Amino acid sequence: MKRPLSITLSLLLALSLTGCGKQESTPPETEPEEPPAVEEPEAPPAPEPYDILDPTVMPAGGSRDGVSYTEWSGIVEHLFFHPVIAYPELAFDGDAQANGLDDFMVTVDEYNKILQSVYDNDYVLVDIGDVWSETTGEDGQSKMVRNPLYLPEGKKPLILSFDDTNYYPYMLENGLTYKLILGEDGKIASWGLDPQGNEVVSRDLDAIPILDKFVEEHPDFSPFGAKGCLSLTGYEGILGYRTQTDTKSWSAEQEANRQLEREAVQPIIAELKRTGWTFGSHTWGHIRLGAKSLEAVQADTERWLDEVGSLVGPTTILFYPHGERPDGNDWQTTGPNFRYLQSMGFRVFCSVGVESFSYIKKDICAVICDRLHPDGTTLRHSRKRYLQFYDAKDIMDVDVRPQREIDWS
Ligand SMILES: [Zn+2]
Repeated sequence: MKRPLSITLSLLLALSLTGCGKQESTPPETEPEEPPAVEEPEAPPAPEPYDILDPTVMPAGGSRDGVSYTEWSGIVEHLFFHPVIAYPELAFDGDAQANGLDDFMVTVDEYNKILQSVYDNDYVLVDIGDVWSETTGEDGQSKMVRNPLYLPEGKKPLILSFDDTNYYPYMLENGLTYKLILGEDGKIASWGLDPQGNEVVSRDLDAIPILDKFVEEHPDFSPFGAKGCLSLTGYEGILGYRTQTDTKSWSAEQEANRQLEREAVQPIIAELKRTGWTFGSHTWGHIRLGAKSLEAVQADTERWLDEVGSLVGPTTILFYPHGERPDGNDWQTTGPNFRYLQSMGFRVFCSVGVESFSYIKKDICAVICDRLHPDGTTLRHSRKRYLQFYDAKDIMDVDVRPQREIDWS
């Protein structure tokens, strides 16, 4: 893993922008990420039969505080976002990255409208960690089971996850916020620079504090206190703090700075956890799990655990970079990369797809699930598929985005 810093960074930067979107974002209906023949026939979206576990977070039916809870046995929808664009005039300035940002991100205004719409459509937030559990089957083998979900009557469960909440340098130059901080009120806020270069501390410009505020204003959107799962790489640090190492050229001064950043991010992590946010791995280097050798995946995972896991704590959630499935296929086969990642504690393996598909694997204790992706690509080309959440016609900031094709037929 010893590479010159400049090469490593430029490679990773390129991957983080082009890559993060390229396969993570499923193209329009005509080109599903996975061949439908592979994805759909044997794995119906209908929920699997599951063992009844003792729910610790959610009430087991009945009434609580005047609200009736009923069991939900349908699909648990899962939407994921990238960091949101605070200043579209910087993101969509016609530079080389403008179209990538258009493809893979939404603006603050769009994000606000999406939250309002999913709320109006009776979705409520559940934590991904509450949807499945590990248990021991009759054969003595560990396996994943779907937990019973008791929701306020008439409500539907929704998982949110947020990929690449690392505040990569390319994002800072393109109208996104720079880092999370604690505001004067002790709440999570973002810090950044506006297009004129003025420092801005706000709870209105970043997906994370925006959701915090939305739940403060609409507490019934999160009946169990869930927010979202933050999907973190490690190569540019986390949450805007440069907590990463470089193995090639590393001075004592750099290490001292890194330790300061590690200290500085800890209160942010603690406050996020306290307010319902959870963390998952997006691999250290945003690597392609389909193509990488087992040795490379092992080295990357150890580095993630050392530099990120040591800060955010244990997690069972893995979000595939580029949506790329380990060993090329995580569903019909269980290859060496998948097996290794599972052995390191991961149990919920998330890709990207055309529906909130999930499948409990039979041969190993793991569940794989696909996520839908509100972003420019689907706003432009997948309006129908997302109508249960929102109507792209009501959401998309057509005027501030690049003038590219829209297909709302
Ligand atoms: Zn990513």
